[in-house]
Amino acid sequence: HAKESGKARYELFDVDMHNNAMKRLRIENDLRNALQKNQIKVYYQPIVDLEQNKIIAFEALARWNHHELGFIPPDEFIPIAEETGMIHDIGQFILHHSLGTLKFWQTQYSQANDIAISVNFSSKQIEQHDLISEIELALQENELPSSSLKVEITEGLLIENEKLAQKLLKKLTESSIPVLLDDFGTGYSSLSYLHKFSLHTIKIDRSFINQMERSEEHLTIVKTIAFMCSHLKLGVIAEGVESDEHIKILKHLGILQAQGYRFSKPVPADEAQKLIVNFNA
Ligand code: C2E
Ligand code: MG
Ligand code: MG
Ligand code: MG
Repeated sequence: HAKESGKARYELFDVDMHNNAMKRLRIENDLRNALQKNQIKVYYQPIVDLEQNKIIAFEALARWNHHELGFIPPDEFIPIAEETGMIHDIGQFILHHSLGTLKFWQTQYSQANDIAISVNFSSKQIEQHDLISEIELALQENELPSSSLKVEITEGLLIENEKLAQKLLKKLTESSIPVLLDDFGTGYSSLSYLHKFSLHTIKIDRSFINQMERSEEHLTIVKTIAFMCSHLKLGVIAEGVESDEHIKILKHLGILQAQGYRFSKPVPADEAQKLIVNFNA
């Protein structure tokens, strides 16, 4: 129909397309050098045990501070990195850097010995790489046991590449590396995933957590996920925990691991280190 709706509109559409393409091209180009230019950083957000009130892990989250465009959120640059294949180098960097940081914390504080790093892996990374050996190498280089790492994946991977995902998750589990299913409840959530794949823990998406106290439906969903997980012997982490009220509800439901702004937003390594000292005293 574009042609029928007149020349002017057609051209406007072209200009828009052009601008978007230019911005994308710019991000794509600059992302190529962002790692070498030290513009990609790892931020850390604590995952807390609500009963002991202790940090059990930090999720490693990529941050890109562009010299002209400023802060570009991961939701914007990770998909581009995936499409262009740059996700491999970025993913490698995040994995090695975050495990190195954990090792450093452990040499400073014994409280860090039981802490793990939770790293996000996109489907692309898992499809095109010998991920297991890369992960094992990163652990070895930093002299860390497999229990120091958690692997976060999303439902997309399980759907797009069921056979490969099944094999990979089994291998990770055999290597004692826990696999966490991120953003559970969004996407195409199918209950069959919960027993078809070797999963260790489910992360309930924050869209359910932040509506719990206002919406009976959301509360029911969270309650049901918790019930299912406990019967399937799966761990549960609540994402997006922002208030004491959230904590109260979660404890009542028996969900005892949580992550969210109530504890800390994602912070640079030196600030995360202070959190370990203060929290896990
Ligand atoms: P995610 O893995 O689900 O990470 C959690 C996101 O929720 C983070 O956003 C975090 O800042 C945000 N968040 C945590 N607690 C709260 C809260 O209480 N309230 C609210 N409103 N938000 C909260 P972030 O850092 O912008 O990352 C967005 C997504 O980008 C991540 O979602 C993940 O899918 C992807 N991502 C980030 N770093 C990496 C990476 O190194 N590799 C890959 N493959 N993906 C990454
Ligand atoms: Mg995650
Ligand atoms: Mg998530
Ligand atoms: Mg997410």
